[in-house]
Amino acid sequence: MFIAHLPAGYLATRLILERHPAPEPLRRRMLVLGMAASVLPDLDLLWFYFVDHRRQVHHAYLPHLPLAWIALFAAVALVLWMGRARRTAWLAMLVFSANILLHQVLDTVARGIRWLWPFSRAEFALSHVEARYEPWYLNFVLHWTFALEVAILAAAWYAWRRRPSPG
Ligand SMILES: [Zn+2]
Repeated sequence: MFIAHLPAGYLATRLILERHPAPEPLRRRMLVLGMAASVLPDLDLLWFYFVDHRRQVHHAYLPHLPLAWIALFAAVALVLWMGRARRTAWLAMLVFSANILLHQVLDTVARGIRWLWPFSRAEFALSHVEARYEPWYLNFVLHWTFALEVAILAAAWYAWRRRPSPG
């Protein structure tokens, strides 16, 4: 996914906050946290371009390996539980983890994600984008999955226009 991560993160965080309401300014902070988490795994592109010099697909790096995140979230949840953390900490944990995993789900739509790593290096993908056009990004823009990205963007814009007024 290219353009859908951030709007999907906005929508997902709005949904979470509807079920678990938070007063301002906490609500706004949770939205920022959720949207940051929705794009966070793609920071590995910096490693891909500047350190690894494009030697392997960036979906093979740790930030795009769901079971690595789930193990981390389980450890954090244990710490929160043992420390009798407040509701705010649990809400932040929920917003963060949901958006990280949503990123992996969205990346499964048009590109492979190694859902079973470290047990298997197999990549799972809902569709395969063939290299037909130049430059490379046209292959994605002209693929049906891009319509899904535009739909998510439109839905987020609609939800943002109808957002509850603060206070
Ligand atoms: Zn990604």
